[in-house]
Amino acid sequence: MELLRPSSPEDATRALGNGSRALAGGTELVPLMRDGLVRVDTLVYISEVVPRGIDGTRIGAGTTLAELEAATQIPGALREACTQAASPQLRSMGTIGGNLLQATRCWYWRLGFDCWLHGGDKCFAKDGAHREHAVFGSEQCASAHPSDPAAALLALGATLRTTQRELSIADLYRLPTDDDRNVTTLAPDELILELDVPSPDASIYLKAMDRRKWAFPIVGVAAARFGGEIRIALAGVAPIPWTLDSPAALEDATPLPGTAYKVEIARALVRRALEGVSAPTR
Ligand SMILES: Cc1cc2nc3c(=O)[nH]c(=O)nc-3n(C[C@H](O)[C@H](O)[C@H](O)COP(=O)(O)OP(=O)(O)OC[C@H]3O[C@@H](n4cnc5c(N)ncnc54)[C@H](O)[C@@H]3O)c2cc1C
Ligand code: SF4
Repeated sequence: MELLRPSSPEDATRALGNGSRALAGGTELVPLMRDGLVRVDTLVYISEVVPRGIDGTRIGAGTTLAELEAATQIPGALREACTQAASPQLRSMGTIGGNLLQATRCWYWRLGFDCWLHGGDKCFAKDGAHREHAVFGSEQCASAHPSDPAAALLALGATLRTTQRELSIADLYRLPTDDDRNVTTLAPDELILELDVPSPDASIYLKAMDRRKWAFPIVGVAAARFGGEIRIALAGVAPIPWTLDSPAALEDATPLPGTAYKVEIARALVRRALEGVSAPTR
């Protein structure tokens, strides 16, 4: 395997595609390579070409979760989502760009089953073990998106700048379909460079997990208030980060037998999050 260290985003994107992959902190990509789930000929180390750090509302995609956790100037929902993600070691290596692009934690997928998301015909989780899986958007794949910060950024209405375009965080994600099983719209040779995160009047991120530390979201709820408008987004409930148009939209959930409890948890967290953003904090 070859390791490239490009000196500009343009050099990096030229090197991407055709069996090569971008490497940032490596906390997601390296385990996937180790487990044979991702095969890579060339690793393109992007940490020297992707911006890192915070400048007003702009956050470099190479900023680590630990740096965001300590940044008092960013909205509370994003800071709290980073604080509650993974472990201190992982947060000190893992970048926000890599976090948004992490793959599902569905154990069938991670164990290499030939399931629908891997290109097969069947979602094994639906008939099998699925207590950590989806309650929305699970017609084909019932996986639950694991990113805490993605839900926070969705509620905050963040936009991304890539090497090719500007897009809303909502447009980064797509529900997979029979002819395209990707859950993001990012091209193989496209890099996320920067995020622009609006400043709300108040925001919050609440997370239910199996342990109090170092666990993926069973349900994560982000809420952000801009004037009289409150936006809500959820983690851990659908194959992609999920916008909740209103608390009542939880009644439209289509849980599997083993995930109905998540709807109850989401109801409680949404209620608390709405109370939380009524308080005058960022
Ligand atoms: C044990 C464990 C527990 C975890 N718990 C949580 C949790 O509770 N909540 C949570 O939200 N996350 C959790 N994570 C995920 C963790 O936050 C991510 O692994 C980390 O943020 C990924 O960042 P990275 O820089 O290491 O990405 P990498 O591993 O370097 O890359 C990940 C993917 O993103 C691509 N990529 C990286 N940066 C860019 C970019 N700028 N542009 C385009 N493509 C890019 C890579 O090609 C790769 O496909 C956990 C991870 C582990 C291993
Ligand atoms: S939930 Fe998705 S990733 Fe998991 S087995 Fe079903 S199709 Fe595969």
